[in-house]
Amino acid sequence: MIEFRGVTKRFPDGTVAVDNLDLVVEAGGITVFVGPSGCGKTTSLRMINRMIEPSEGTIMVDGRDVAATDAADLRRGIGYVIQQAGLFPHRTILDNIATVPLLLGWSKAKARSRAAELMEIVGLAREMAGRYPAQLSGGQQQRVGVARALAADPPILLMDEPFSAVDPVVRESLQDELLRLQAELGKTIVFVTHDIDEAIKLGDKVAVLRVGGVLAQYDQPGQLLARPVDDFVDNFVGRDRGYRGLGFMSSDAIPIGELPTVALGDPVPDDDAWVLVVDSEQHPQGWLNGAERNGAAVVEADHLMPGGSLYDIGSGSLRSALDAALSSPSGVGV
Ligand code: ADP
Ligand code: MG
Repeated sequence: MIEFRGVTKRFPDGTVAVDNLDLVVEAGGITVFVGPSGCGKTTSLRMINRMIEPSEGTIMVDGRDVAATDAADLRRGIGYVIQQAGLFPHRTILDNIATVPLLLGWSKAKARSRAAELMEIVGLAREMAGRYPAQLSGGQQQRVGVARALAADPPILLMDEPFSAVDPVVRESLQDELLRLQAELGKTIVFVTHDIDEAIKLGDKVAVLRVGGVLAQYDQPGQLLARPVDDFVDNFVGRDRGYRGLGFMSSDAIPIGELPTVALGDPVPDDDAWVLVVDSEQHPQGWLNGAERNGAAVVEADHLMPGGSLYDIGSGSLRSALDAALSSPSGVGV
């Protein structure tokens, strides 16, 4: 668990990057910090591993006050991944990943077998082991960056816009891999992005920050969509685009090509309409693609509730349907 208690960062030139932040990152999930450029995401992240010291307030990591913890000690338990993987150009992929274990005093054989295992975990083919960073694509380099950050098996992983520089298709698959990896390894991940779609997709909880370093809302993605606390959050999560993420189908199974696009708060166009809430594991990919091509999109059900289901929403508005689904203890909509 990571806790920010009244944390403010004021740089020497007077810039307040983070303003009185109170927030608890729960262990074992993905917490996303999202907001426009300059809102203090990177600064917040770097205060967790003491790359930046707060001006006021306290940060606790697993019950220890970060300010009173030796930085090298602290960082052994915290992996860190940034946008440019920052690999050593003259070392092979395997050696890049093995660097940290070697620094920690592992034997060469043990460090290398750990590196090979990590390559598999992050989905890098074995034959990449002997290549050099320049021979890899951007997406592959980011995988190496993630593997390297995981090398010493830290319980916490900090990720600062790790996928922002790769093309959208590769980004999607890296996101999927990260979700799988988190489920498999149970790491506590703090993920920074300026991209709200990425935040909604990855976050168990999402902290929306505004410029000036003020926390606007800290909530589950479904709650951000359904109950934005103010206009800033509402606009930021995409009111104007409608409920990005909600696909529609009717009980008569209208082909996906004819799906209507519905804006938030619009009446449901058809009494027989259903809201499609897809399970990220089980949805038919073709539907998802089709829905997105048609301007509709899909909310992944595990962001709202486990399992995923179809909700017959009758003739309400999208907002009331989602409200009903969210407030129903069984997760079954109206
Ligand atoms: P984000 O990662 O959300 O884009 P940052 O945390 O990098 O934002 O920066 C937050 C604010 O703090 C910005 O206004 C930025 O210009 C400012 N800032 C960041 N680092 C410094 C610094 N070393 N000195 C002065 N201002 C800084
Ligand atoms: Mg940043």
